[in-house]
This record gives sequence, structure tokens and C-alpha cells, in this order.
Amino acid sequence: MSDKYDVIVVGAGPGGYVAAIRCAQLGLKTACVEKWVDKKKKPLLGGTCLNIGCIPSKALLDTSHKYADTKNELAEHGILVEDVTFDTAKMLERKKGIVAKLTGGISALFKANGVTTLQGAGQLQAGKKVEVTDINGESSTVEADHIILATGSVPIDIPPTPLQDDVIVDSTGALNFEHVPKRLGVIGAGVIGLELGSVWSRLGAQVVIIEALDTFLGMVDQQIAKDAKRHLTKQGLDIRLSARVVDSKITKNGGESQVILKYTDADGEKEESFDKVIVAVGRKPMSDGLLSKDCGVNLDERGFIFVNDYCETDAPGVYAVGDLVRGPMLAHKASEEGVMVAERIVGKKTQLNYDNIPSIIYTHPEIAWVGKTEDQLKASGDNYKVGVFPFAANGRALAANDTAGMVKIIADGETDRIIGCHIIGASAADLIQQIVIAMEFGSSAEDIGLMVFGHPTVSEAVHEAALAVDGHAIHIANRKKRK
Ligand code: FAD
Ligand code: AMP
Repeated sequence: MSDKYDVIVVGAGPGGYVAAIRCAQLGLKTACVEKWVDKKKKPLLGGTCLNIGCIPSKALLDTSHKYADTKNELAEHGILVEDVTFDTAKMLERKKGIVAKLTGGISALFKANGVTTLQGAGQLQAGKKVEVTDINGESSTVEADHIILATGSVPIDIPPTPLQDDVIVDSTGALNFEHVPKRLGVIGAGVIGLELGSVWSRLGAQVVIIEALDTFLGMVDQQIAKDAKRHLTKQGLDIRLSARVVDSKITKNGGESQVILKYTDADGEKEESFDKVIVAVGRKPMSDGLLSKDCGVNLDERGFIFVNDYCETDAPGVYAVGDLVRGPMLAHKASEEGVMVAERIVGKKTQLNYDNIPSIIYTHPEIAWVGKTEDQLKASGDNYKVGVFPFAANGRALAANDTAGMVKIIADGETDRIIGCHIIGASAADLIQQIVIAMEFGSSAEDIGLMVFGHPTVSEAVHEAALAVDGHAIHIANRKKRK
């Protein structure tokens, strides 16, 4: 006997739980299968993002930023704080509370919308059935007209650095260090490595980031990436490029573990010792045990579930969204794919504009971008124009003593339509959304230049960068001729 639903969602991360809520809003009888449980063995909703990703990392970034600001910046404002101390246990407790509030909120939303939660690991069977095996090892089968796979991703591990409890850790372990390490090694200078490296560096750890590639943040506009490297290095992050970790050894020093990392760079082989090491070399889709042999869903050559632009798999009526499929591994991308699939199930024509998804790195200054980089446009030989405005010339940024960075807007050389925006600065994560909206409406740089921006705001830097595209910025000396 199997229960029948209109939709079964497998995985309750930002892809799955948002899809489930939207399906229920649209009147579909919906169940969501989730394998994680809390201490009371109840399903733990929210996925990587809420439990061990976006939210806890931002909680630690905010705490550590406030601490670093108190120690290093407040004196500039005339605020003298002596003997600033730090309580790691309190920071972790605060983070736990935020996660609990948000994950509990998803349970409440499921209840309010009538989504049924099924605890267990789901496996897709042929004929749109899902076998659910709960934490006691008991299995049952549920079926639906539509199935949405949303099982997300897990950290990649590399053979030279097998994880070792609380000594060599992945991003999850790095959110839970009980003491600030004296020396911290981070393998990988990607988004997660830089964010978690920043947290512990601000709290006092000596942080060395070891990155195999020779380009820093290769996916970021290189004018912005160069500025980011300069700021992060000044803050104390020791970023070593063209350095590949090849081995690790754990030694005991009077009861304390030490990790000796071996890496190779242009000078040959080197060794360096750390109290803790974070392996942050990327994430891979989580499809282990998800697909039965005859379920009809295929993987692509990189191990992601193969889907078309509408997140349809090769099996009719089966969809996949989020980190499990191609595209950036971002919570907001996962959620919007979940919404698209739910709406298409009821016959709407919803699409996702994959060219207009913002990316953000929550370092300080923050780094945020959308659309094409100047490097990509140069490589493709496209005709483009660039406007740059530094926060150092922005009144509100000066008032806040937070003037690092710039806004860079790139527009089509002929039509003036905005095709990219790259921001490094204190509020980059929020500012980029203005250009996401502008690009979605096909705005030109001139359109943004003609709008009225409140004064004094850091948003004025966006306005001025748009004006700078045609040499009109008011608060910098323009080298371009006015038109
Ligand atoms: P997930 O969130 O991974 O959720 C998948 C869910 O499926 C999990 O709950 C899992 O338990 C469950 N599951 C897996 N297999 C099964 C199964 N067989 N049966 C039942 N359930 C199953 N993204 C951002 O956009 N902004 C950020 O600031 C950001 N910061 C991050 C920081 C860190 C440290 C990390 C690790 C990630 C961060 N991300 C961030 C990425 C973001 O967390 C992911 O892109 C997002 O969670 C993907 O959502 P998802 O729903 O596809 O998968
Ligand atoms: P991301 O995928 O953005 O999280 O970034 C992960 C980074 O880790 C990439 O820039 C990789 O080049 C880097 N990386 C992968 N393996 C190694 C290694 N063995 N040593 C140093 N860096 C590595």
C-alpha cells in the first residue's frame, strides 16, 4: 500500500522546501522527504543553507566583524573601548539560536501550508515512486504525479587531507571550532575558504590560505578581485596562489594535535604546520543512493543530475533543482528553480533567467557581481563601455569610515544596455540587487543615471558608476569627454 501525493519533494533545503511550499500554495497535495533529524529525531528542515551553510556562516561573519570593528575601527570615531575580550562559546550559542529559529520557522510554514513532512532518505523508483527509509531503517513507498529531487550537495574531500575530527575539517567543522586556533590553514581560496578564513582571522587566528590556481577569484571581474586580494591581505589573510596541497600529517605536541601540510609551488615542495586545517575545495552534487537503476534519471558528465532549462530530468514528471543540477551552487538559485518547477507543474510558463543571478562573497568589504565580467567581454571581443566609481568619493561611505572598494558597471558599447555589474564594498550584497532589477528590465546605464538616488546613501555610488559609463560622474574627475 503506498500513499499518493500530487507532488513529492526529496530534500528540504532552499530548493526543496521552497518548491514544497509553492506547490502547496498552488493547491497541490505535497509531501517533502528529508533525511536529517534533530536531537529529538524529528526531521531537520532547511538543508545545508540554514543548518551548516549560508546562515550560520553569516552569523559568524557578523559577530567576528563586530569584534574586529570594535578593536580596530571604533577609536577612529572617538569611541575608546579598552580590554575587548571575546567569548567563542557565546558566539556559537548565538549562531545555534539563529539556526534553530529559522529551521523551526520552516516547520511552521510547512504546517501552515499543509505540506506533509516524511522523515527518511528518499530513493527514486521507476513509475514516480519514492522509497523512504527512516532513521530506524524502516522503509515505505510513496508515489506522486510529480517528483522534485532537491538533495543538494556535500563538500568535496581530497586524498591528501582526509578529514580528522576537529583538526582537519570541512566547512561544517569550521563553523564549530570551540577555541580560536592559533594557526589555521585553509585549502582553497574560493567563496567558502575566504569567508571562513575571514571569520577566524578576525578573531585572532593567523590564517594561511593555500590555493592551487594562479589567479585569485578567477570567476570574479579581475579589477575587483585584485582590489579584494589587497584588502584581505591587509586584514591579515596570507593568500598563497599556485600552491597545491599534496599531503598532510598529524602529529601530537603535548596532547595538542598539529597538522603538517605539504604543498608544492614554483619553488618546489614546502611544509607548514597548523593547529587546524579547513578543506574548502568545493562541493559536489549529492546523488548517492538517490536513484534506483531503472528510475530513468541520468547524470551529466560532471555527476550532476541532467536537466533542461526547466529543470526537467530525462524521466517524465521528475524534476531536479538546486545544487544537484548545473549552474551556480547558490541558495537563491535553488529556491527560484523550486518555484519555477512548482509553477510549471500547474501549467504556468514560469522561466528562470540564468544570466541574471547575483553572486556574493561576504568578506569585508563584500564582493558582489552579476552578468558579464570585463575579462569575459575582452576575450569575446564584444564592444562595451565601463563606468567605475570608488566608495572613497561617496559621502555616506566616508561618514561611516567604510570607504574600501568601488562600483563598476559595464554597458553594451552600442545600445548602452547594462550587461554586468561588479561591486566591492561594505554593502555590495544589497547594492548588487539594484542592478539585478535594472538588468531584468533591460535598463541602460543612462536609465540608472537619470534616476534620483537618495542622499547621502552608498547607493549613490551605483548612480555615479552608471553616469561614469558615459563620462558624466559628478564626484570624480572624469577622464572621458562628456557627451
Ligand atoms: P541543500 O541545502 O544541500 O539541501 C539538501 C537537503 O536534502 C538536505 O537537507 C539533505 O539532508 C537532504 N537530502 C540529501 N539526500 C537526501 C535523500 N536521499 N533523501 C532525503 N533527503 C535528502 N549560498 C548562498 O546563496 N549564499 C551564501 O551565503 C552561502 N553560503 C554558504 C556557506 C557555506 C559554509 C556553505 C557550505 C554553503 C553556502 N551556500 C551559500 C550554498 C548553499 O548552502 C547551497 O547552494 C544551497 O543550500 C543549495 O540548496 P539545495 O536545496 O539545492 O540543497
Ligand atoms: P570553490 O569551488 O569556489 O569553493 O573553490 C575551491 C578552490 O580550491 C578552487 O579554487 C580550487 O582551485 C582549490 N583547490 C582544489 N584542490 C586544491 C589543493 N589540493 N590545494 C590547494 N587548492 C586546491
